Amino acid sequence: MKKKIALVTGITGQDGAYMAKLLLNYGYKVYGAYRRTSSFNSWRLEELGIQDTIELVPFELLEKSNIERTIKLIKPNELYNFAAQSFVELSFQNPIYTANVDAISTLKILESIRMINRSIKFYQASSSEMFGGVTDQVLDERSKFYPRSPYAVAKAFGHYITINYREAYGIFACSGILFNHESPLRGMEFVTRKITSTLAEIKAGRKKVLELGNYYAKRDWGYAGDFVEGVWKMLQVKKPCDYVLATGEQHSVKDFATYAAKLCGFNIAWHGKKPNEYAVDKDTKKIIIKKNPRYDRPSDVFTLKGRANKARKELKWSPKIKFKDLVKMMIEADRKRSIIGKIIH
Ligand code: NDP
Ligand code: GDP
Repeated sequence: MKKKIALVTGITGQDGAYMAKLLLNYGYKVYGAYRRTSSFNSWRLEELGIQDTIELVPFELLEKSNIERTIKLIKPNELYNFAAQSFVELSFQNPIYTANVDAISTLKILESIRMINRSIKFYQASSSEMFGGVTDQVLDERSKFYPRSPYAVAKAFGHYITINYREAYGIFACSGILFNHESPLRGMEFVTRKITSTLAEIKAGRKKVLELGNYYAKRDWGYAGDFVEGVWKMLQVKKPCDYVLATGEQHSVKDFATYAAKLCGFNIAWHGKKPNEYAVDKDTKKIIIKKNPRYDRPSDVFTLKGRANKARKELKWSPKIKFKDLVKMMIEADRKRSIIGKIIH
């Protein structure tokens, strides 16, 4: 039988790398779309050992001609769109760029599919950030959106335009509303990985302190490896629609940092008053975690908790890795990297 062909955008990112690995395991021919920069960011593909098994294609989301050329050349059966300016904090500094990459470029891909081959199945990486300011509910596909950052507003556009192309042109297009998902391959700027990598570096004696913004923000953190399985399942159903993927469990940034510190071998105690609490290493009497308002956002999302009942029922999907195992996995990976002196990305 002919191999299915998948085009994965954002191949150098966390989800693109895990998705590619899963698709290769499922027998796909995988094309990974990457953007040309002065240095190719291949460390995640190397860590997963798949850099030589995927075909890399240069691809810039801002260039419609790139998108069209790539689709014509590769003739994918499935297109997974993970590429994005994915960091909320940066979206406050670069709002127009973020809107172009995260909103308008989604439309460019959909428009290219409409013009070139409407039978290509399309996945859009939407985000729980779109719920943003809705604080009193467990969130699912029926919850309303209240985006609180330029990133979330742009993702809401990507979400609705995906639905519109499905309804208007019959394209098999699904939007996955994914709650935060982490892993040892998570970008360093995101709070979980910032915590695990910095604590590992403090333990190794190369850093002194971990500075954070809002400790009290709560997230529904899952494992990226579990979530890409749910994404793949979305494109295998008979009738395309949209799904929430979440664990249904919620923890604060402070909880994450406290548990990560314990796993890293620190014996910490919290002192001070909200919002300026700080954590002292009881063995050395030194402050190792403290507040830095520089990391506060102009408008933050204080709480997110999802309900993935639809995905459980229709996709038979459920997350396997629990919170404590996730933190452990990330701390162990960063401890290992810091012990062998590997550059922590
Ligand atoms: P990453 O930031 O790890 O990866 C983003 C990818 O997009 C990178 O490969 C990056 O390339 C690429 N990219 C950025 N800008 C462009 C551009 N202009 N042209 C082409 N490629 C570009 O994100 P994740 O893997 O964590 O997330 C994947 C997707 O899922 C994103 O769309 C994100 O917004 C969304 N999402 C993620 C969640 C999470 O918790 N991880 C939650 C909900 C949604 P480069 O390496 O060159 O920077
Ligand atoms: P997000 O949910 O996509 O914004 O994922 P992040 O990991 O970037 O942030 C999750 C939450 O942690 C947000 O509410 C941030 O305000 C909060 N946070 C607290 N301190 C930090 C920090 O130092 N860096 C980041 N990235 N987030 C922080």
